[in-house]
Amino acid sequence: MSLRQQQSATVPGAPTGEVDRPDATGTFESTDPATGAVVQVFPVHDAAAVRETVGRAHAAAATWAALGFAERRLRLAAYRGHLARRMPELADLVHRENGKPHADAVLEITLAVDHLAWAGAHAERTLGRRRVRSGALAANHAAYLEYQPLGVVGVIGPWNYPVFTPMGSIAYALAAGNAVVFKPSEFTPAVGAWLVAAWRAAVPDVADVLQVVTGFGETGAELCRAGVGKLAFTGSSATGRKVMATCAETLTPVLMECGGKDAMIVDDDADVSAAADAAVWGAMSNAGQTCIGIERVYATSAVHDRFVAEVTRRTAALRPGSDDGASYGPMTMASQTDIVRRHVDDALATGGRAVTGGTVDGGLIAPTVLLDVPESSAAVREETFGPTLTITEVADAEEGLRRANDSTMGLGGSVFSGSADRAMDLARRMRSGMTSINSVLTFASVPALPFGGVGESGFGRIHGEDGLREFTRAKAITRQRVGLPVDLMSFDRPAGAARALAGVVRLVHGRHR
Ligand code: NAD
Repeated sequence: MSLRQQQSATVPGAPTGEVDRPDATGTFESTDPATGAVVQVFPVHDAAAVRETVGRAHAAAATWAALGFAERRLRLAAYRGHLARRMPELADLVHRENGKPHADAVLEITLAVDHLAWAGAHAERTLGRRRVRSGALAANHAAYLEYQPLGVVGVIGPWNYPVFTPMGSIAYALAAGNAVVFKPSEFTPAVGAWLVAAWRAAVPDVADVLQVVTGFGETGAELCRAGVGKLAFTGSSATGRKVMATCAETLTPVLMECGGKDAMIVDDDADVSAAADAAVWGAMSNAGQTCIGIERVYATSAVHDRFVAEVTRRTAALRPGSDDGASYGPMTMASQTDIVRRHVDDALATGGRAVTGGTVDGGLIAPTVLLDVPESSAAVREETFGPTLTITEVADAEEGLRRANDSTMGLGGSVFSGSADRAMDLARRMRSGMTSINSVLTFASVPALPFGGVGESGFGRIHGEDGLREFTRAKAITRQRVGLPVDLMSFDRPAGAARALAGVVRLVHGRHR
């Protein structure tokens, strides 16, 4: 896929006036990865344009926060209604700009709409003002807790799930009462601009609450510097480090949703056919360009051979392409194809063997299943982000868990086992933010569950109550209800008050050993 920077001020095909401002420094094209055809041309927004957008967002944020939960919920509902009605149009754009099959785009949008609904419905209960117990020392006070919006949240997104992934931040940030400025990936700017145009169309009275800026990494860096209350980043761990460094200049807090190298453990008593089905989907769907995709399987000796045979059989039925019948599409960006080639070549050069695929030649990569790959290989240690899977035989699930956890990353993962207790134990000890038992990726479709990683997969959470709180600051308030005859926090307190207090503390707490 080519991204060409031009020095033209015209922006043919830009969907809204918002991305068509004259203060951009040049333009760039987004293209269809299957055909190379130009999808749309967008401005490269510079520092001034980003600051101007964030300035408008600050004004909009005040209005949005003042609306309160109920009014915001109505507008979020109108937005999701708009997305649901226009889903075919959006799915078509996702297909053209990202390359994934139409049906997968529909699935992605459906998930995003569901998260929007959950965030809107649960914001008040999760974040609204509530009374908490005052405790013994402040029994004469009422105590209140609420979670207040941060103002403007900057969202920087990737291209692999151009609707679902940014919406994980956008929906929860909006529901929490923030305005959002969204910088979509330079590979999927049309989808990003479409999402923002849809907001303006659905809720014109608060149009500036969700805005878009387009461009490359430098535009993202300017968003980090533009005075946002938080920067929600989703992308690679390498870029995440740069984003954190830029945000450190202004002490801007960050949410990091980065890469993964997710593993599946297949235990002795697992349903091998179901595990193989899930592994193939988890590894190959979206051409493997899924942050929570399965990249490594550790199968016990008891099931390994059957599992490999079943995966091989299922993989043989897959066909990459860009027609409606294709199992998955082309790689969205050429540089990712190079990474997949490097990993497959390294796996084969260091003793691995390919039971399917094995040659990476162009953007349509055949499903590639690799056996006997050394744990030191790039195909096991680094994020591949392609339609590949390593399968490694292990003595038992404990060894599988040890190897699964031997990674700098820890985003999601999966455990297949016939025993619910055993599976739960393994899942809890898996070093990742999320694990699905007897399925893959399911945690992402449960809006009430938080989504995020450990280690180089990032920190902070989107989705669920944690995802709502991520875009707020806790506010604590006390109100004195009645005065006490002795106030310990006063210079008027009696001389013996501290001694009496020490006696009470000793009585209440001193007996614990
Ligand atoms: P990327 O890191 O190349 O780019 C992500 C975004 O960062 C893009 O919008 C890009 O323009 C911007 N950017 C680049 N340099 C920047 C800079 N210096 N300052 C600010 N912004 C900058 O990632 P990608 O290739 O678009 O996406 C793929 C990666 O995203 C994979 O590693 C995948 O695992 C990860 N991902 C993670 C999640 C998650 O939720 N954890 C979800 C989807 C994708």
